[in-house]
Amino acid sequence: MSSRDNEQQPVSAPYPEITAQLTEVVGAENLSSSPVDTIAHAVDFWPRKLMETRAGRWHRGPRWVVWPGAAAEVAHVLRIASTYAIPVIPYGGGSSMVGGASPRGERPWLVINCKRMCNILDMDEGSMVVHVQAGVVGVELEERLNARGFSLGHVPTSMTTATLGGWLSTRSSGMLSSRYGRISDLCLGITAVLPDGQLVHTRVAPRRATGPELMHLLLGAEGTLGIITAAHLRLHRLPLHRQFDSFRFERIDEAAEALRRSITSGVRPLVARIQRDPRLRRSDRDPDAPVPDAAALARRVLLLAFEGPAELVEAERGVVRSHVAELGGEALGQAPARRWWGQRFAAGFRMTPVLVRENSFADYVEAGVTWAGLAGLYRAMEEAFASRGWRTRLVVEHARMEGVSLGCAFWGDAASPQEAVASYDAAWKVAQQVCLAHGGRLGHVYGGGQHRAVLLDEWGKGRLELLTRIKRKLDPAGIMNPGVLGTEP
Ligand SMILES: Cc1cc2nc3c(=O)[nH]c(=O)nc-3n(C[C@H](O)[C@H](O)[C@H](O)COP(=O)(O)OP(=O)(O)OC[C@H]3O[C@@H](n4cnc5c(N)ncnc54)[C@H](O)[C@@H]3O)c2cc1C
Repeated sequence: MSSRDNEQQPVSAPYPEITAQLTEVVGAENLSSSPVDTIAHAVDFWPRKLMETRAGRWHRGPRWVVWPGAAAEVAHVLRIASTYAIPVIPYGGGSSMVGGASPRGERPWLVINCKRMCNILDMDEGSMVVHVQAGVVGVELEERLNARGFSLGHVPTSMTTATLGGWLSTRSSGMLSSRYGRISDLCLGITAVLPDGQLVHTRVAPRRATGPELMHLLLGAEGTLGIITAAHLRLHRLPLHRQFDSFRFERIDEAAEALRRSITSGVRPLVARIQRDPRLRRSDRDPDAPVPDAAALARRVLLLAFEGPAELVEAERGVVRSHVAELGGEALGQAPARRWWGQRFAAGFRMTPVLVRENSFADYVEAGVTWAGLAGLYRAMEEAFASRGWRTRLVVEHARMEGVSLGCAFWGDAASPQEAVASYDAAWKVAQQVCLAHGGRLGHVYGGGQHRAVLLDEWGKGRLELLTRIKRKLDPAGIMNPGVLGTEP
């Protein structure tokens, strides 16, 4: 039976019986149907849903929230859910920006909150591998590793909220990805529970060449194929030395080219970002500040951080400086990059006060683009948004050999709640069209969720068909996060 059949013939589930069975597995103290818990799990960080809530639309929460303490309990809970065809949302920190972790429609949902599974199970300091449960919150894991002289090197802006399971399930990228890689680069093996309750372990080895790497089926699956309960992760030693540099360029083209030359010549900066000149911020906030001229508005700064043994850091800085000089960049010293570093967690949450304002709209487009298309996409995105009166802030980040992520925060005010949602949808449509026209690929960082599912033509129909076939095999009852990643709702 597919999940579509479930929708057509709603299960007349015996709720008290299901509650009793769930209680037997996790204990009464780890199961809740109280409004406090169900309302808390009714929305995630998807701005569109938050805007609808602000406009008075009530979003139904799950019927049950459970907090299992071990993979075996997760397996039992999934077997119960499969038996009664109850749709399940695996839940980490609920920081999904794309509606991946919140119920949809009218069906009675079961949320499996993974946060009780938060222990470090084992640590091999010689091989620099840690085995850790997936419900641990990012910042707590990092603090525990730091206390032992190590770091994971994965630092997304949502670090204080998001969990390891959420990172793995969305193939998260942190702000240090240019040096340490994304979470999928750091993951060496996982333990997961499939929808029928079967436990899967992928064993840890420096490399395996025996067939496809099945771990990658679960990484990025956004809870549609099972629940990740633990992972083996690669560690780094805490850095010995960290330095910063900042450079100003007349246009995005030169800034992008300096970064491209540096990265493709082998430099691995801890952070590399191209953004607006921070000095323009005064003119944003102060109506009496002089209006910047076109040249000032076109300038971009390249902010860099380097980390590692001092000799290596200085060598990398030298390579970058020579490329910057070739392209006429002006050295601004360490201060602008240091300032950004000091506020690195704040930027992601600047959207929150905007969304609290009545009739406002805001979100963050993130698109992957190869170096060849970067400057063109950057300009096209900036122009498309500005010409419609939407405010934007663009940033180039997550640099790697073949290209970067172009982030575009957008926001504005509308005349009514309905117009705010309409402007929000229009902004995404524009972003999608600009990306298609200029070689960008939406969804570089935040996953697909429910939101990007509407932009699926970007991904290609063949890919969706393959995902659907895999899901039907692994999840015949269609219980795992239906409606996410374009799967059947
Ligand atoms: C202010 C802000 C800044 C952000 N910055 C970044 C950033 O820098 N980089 C980045 O990559 N993302 C960022 N995000 C997006 C978000 O934090 C990531 O997608 C994160 O990986 C989600 O983790 P979570 O624990 O909150 O997962 P949730 O939001 O709870 O869930 C996300 C998805 O993963 C599934 N899932 C969760 N846990 C499991 C599990 N154990 N097994 C199977 N499926 C599971 C859920 O069902 C859902 O589909 C940001 C979000 C916000 C609000």
